[in-house]
Amino acid sequence: MALITFTSKGIYCKQGDFYIDPWKPVKLAVTTHGHADHVKWGNDVYLCHELTKPVLLHRLGADLKIQTLRYGEEITINGVKLSLHPAGHVIGSAQIRLEYKGEIAVVSGDYKVADDGISTAFEPVKCHTFVSESTFGLPIYKWQPQEVIFQQIRDWATQNQAQQKTSVLVAYSLGKAQRLIHGLSGNEPIYVHQSIANLNDAFVAAGVKLPQTVRITTDIRKEELQQGIVIVPPALADGRWIKNLQQAATGVCSGWMQVRASRRWRSADAGFALSDHADWPGLLSAISATSAEKVFVTHGFTATFSKYLNEIGIPAEEVKTQYGQEEDDAPLTDQVPEYTEETKEHTD
Ligand SMILES: [Zn+2]
Ligand SMILES: [Zn+2]
Repeated sequence: MALITFTSKGIYCKQGDFYIDPWKPVKLAVTTHGHADHVKWGNDVYLCHELTKPVLLHRLGADLKIQTLRYGEEITINGVKLSLHPAGHVIGSAQIRLEYKGEIAVVSGDYKVADDGISTAFEPVKCHTFVSESTFGLPIYKWQPQEVIFQQIRDWATQNQAQQKTSVLVAYSLGKAQRLIHGLSGNEPIYVHQSIANLNDAFVAAGVKLPQTVRITTDIRKEELQQGIVIVPPALADGRWIKNLQQAATGVCSGWMQVRASRRWRSADAGFALSDHADWPGLLSAISATSAEKVFVTHGFTATFSKYLNEIGIPAEEVKTQYGQEEDDAPLTDQVPEYTEETKEHTD
């Protein structure tokens, strides 16, 4: 009997009788992280990392029943040993390791291999069965070192300031926003939209150290914003608020910005390919580090990526899930590239 199966409610462990990131309500939802496509409202009990708890309380409501674990801490549920290990995706994100009668399975949720300095760095976990995302599972997705991207953002902001423009960065409130705040320290003041400020407050209350930011309120004058960097979630990117700034330059921070067509997203002036997901080499290195005998590919370029794994001798299978519809997983444009000879060429 396999340790994990894929059901209409989500990833299920029959031996332990619990689900991982289910999309329908269940008794026990083991939760990898707080992005909306991985955690839904309505489960009896949630089990997650202690730093995912403030996210769930903030997003899903204060009356949730939540049990928390630290990384590496082990519990046993109906004879199945369960522990959480850093996924490096966003603050609190965890890979779920299950062990039963010598059989080990790891469900990674979303992950990134590069250490962003704020989400605990990804740790490979040896297992027999590994469940992987493939959001950026095409060879064209190969990230530049984050220092390079952050320097590009700083240079862009300096240029905007010289032209009396306000630098507005568009970034998801969970993950990308905290990463930008951390990576841009030294470029204060950093102004954040209230949805980001509220989440940051929840993290700080839970003991996370975040650099100082300024919550955007109506008292802040537009001239003031020009002296710093403004971070807003994508929902606001086209909004009246930015248009009212008159002299605003918007920069979108997302892995999708790696591809030229995506850079024309909405009215963005600049695109920065900063992603909280593993790139193509990252996915491959992470998978090989697990020594898994079987890989299930859940969301992203599932067909291409699982086909490639099979070609290089790692048995892999594509599975249909409901992940990848929201937040950083979801393409910002319809112009998602196909895996063709042309896209293949770009890798070196
Ligand atoms: Zn995610
Ligand atoms: Zn995801």
